[in-house]
Amino acid sequence: MVTETPSSLKAIRSALAQNNYTLKQLVAFYLGRIDKNAHLNAFLEVFADEALANAEAADSNLQAELQKPLTGLVLAIKDNLCFKGHKVSASSKILENFESLYTATAVQRLIDAGAIIIGRTSCDEFAMGSSNETSAFGNVLNPLDSARVPGGSSGGSAAAVAAGLCTAALGTDTGGSIRQPSSLCGVVGLKPTYGRVSRYGAIAYASSFDQIGPIALTVDDTALIYEVMGGKDDMDATTSTKPIVSYSTAETGKKYKIAYIKETVESEGLDPEIRERLYAIRDALVAQGHTVEAVDFPYLDYLIPTYYILTTAEASSNLARYDGIHYGYRSTKATDLESTYKLSRSEGFGKEVQRRIMLGTFVLSAGYYDAYYSKGQKVRRILRDKCNEILSSYDFMLTPTTPSTAFKIGENTSDPIKMYLEDIYTVLANLAGLPAISLPLGKHSNGLPFGMQLTARNFDEARLLQFSIELEQNFKG
Ligand code: GLN
Repeated sequence: MVTETPSSLKAIRSALAQNNYTLKQLVAFYLGRIDKNAHLNAFLEVFADEALANAEAADSNLQAELQKPLTGLVLAIKDNLCFKGHKVSASSKILENFESLYTATAVQRLIDAGAIIIGRTSCDEFAMGSSNETSAFGNVLNPLDSARVPGGSSGGSAAAVAAGLCTAALGTDTGGSIRQPSSLCGVVGLKPTYGRVSRYGAIAYASSFDQIGPIALTVDDTALIYEVMGGKDDMDATTSTKPIVSYSTAETGKKYKIAYIKETVESEGLDPEIRERLYAIRDALVAQGHTVEAVDFPYLDYLIPTYYILTTAEASSNLARYDGIHYGYRSTKATDLESTYKLSRSEGFGKEVQRRIMLGTFVLSAGYYDAYYSKGQKVRRILRDKCNEILSSYDFMLTPTTPSTAFKIGENTSDPIKMYLEDIYTVLANLAGLPAISLPLGKHSNGLPFGMQLTARNFDEARLLQFSIELEQNFKG
């Protein structure tokens, strides 16, 4: 019998190996939790029968199944990841009832390694948002305080993990969508290096930023999932051929050089308790023999504008395919080709997605291209070079993940700029392509968790994860 939410995949695997419970009992347990927590609205759809049947099949040969690295993993997937024969909507009306024709490489690799997919989780529409409030299918509630948002865009995934509705979940991260909700829900979220995990089968938002990554209760679980789903894929030409290095081979107990960006910590918008926590962690790390130093990053004001110019440009082009003809929603009021395009897109896309398509087409339009898009590309290069320069002298960068703890539902919806500032600490890793993880290392006096973000050099996930485990052991909030 499973009586409480298992603490990690490792715990599940040892319980299964010792016959403490069956995989089917585990899946049934999570299904019960999903039912009890239906008010959170974390799942758009639960694949109950299928998950139970897959668990039963594995149970019939469980000891052999446990040879696979991820048997025991009951996984939720964000609703922008394709899973053949299942609906995928990117939480948008325009794709409502659309069914995947193939399975995302990352999802397939996890299934092949023994994972069971329990359902698809709500997100901001087309992954555009920081609060899950742009989903066409209702808000997701933060399991720690139901008046507050879970963060976004992978809000359903983070809420599901935090509420114990699954062992782990997949998210995607274009500018923070794995790390920010992980911070607000008190769980671990990893955005791998750009090109580390195949994007094949992930519904594109901004293709030069998007990465799939895991959200879980422990660093170890995120590492195990990441290592299985990463690596070269012929279906995504941006994936790297570099082999995945297991975090378990990275040296432990090493003394590192860590940079924290002075401007991010001193910035006015940062909750003082988060700042204090960062300083406390810094001091403790120094006491343990690490070097932790403030470095200058004079470009903080450029992060959000550059991110939103480039991602809206890419989004406007990626979302051109939703035209009322190829897939998904078609307006019933359309009378000819042009009104089919116009009405289907106006009725099918929500306001935030429309705003971004318009911004994106604007920054790409003749006459403005050089002033915005092309300038944005140049600034991106400067930002990337600056990060690489810092990381050539330091092993990691440490920052808060979010400027505050979870905010109230509706608090930021009328002010898009305020909402965009939620991404201030996270977009840099996507602009520069770097791997970054949010670790639940803080607890605010308001009772809510917050995360600290550790960023590493490109393809240095092994050390990033190994050191994250040390931080988790020493400083868990
Ligand atoms: N909040 C950011 C945005 O709205 C990040 C989203 C994401 O990473 N998908 O673009």
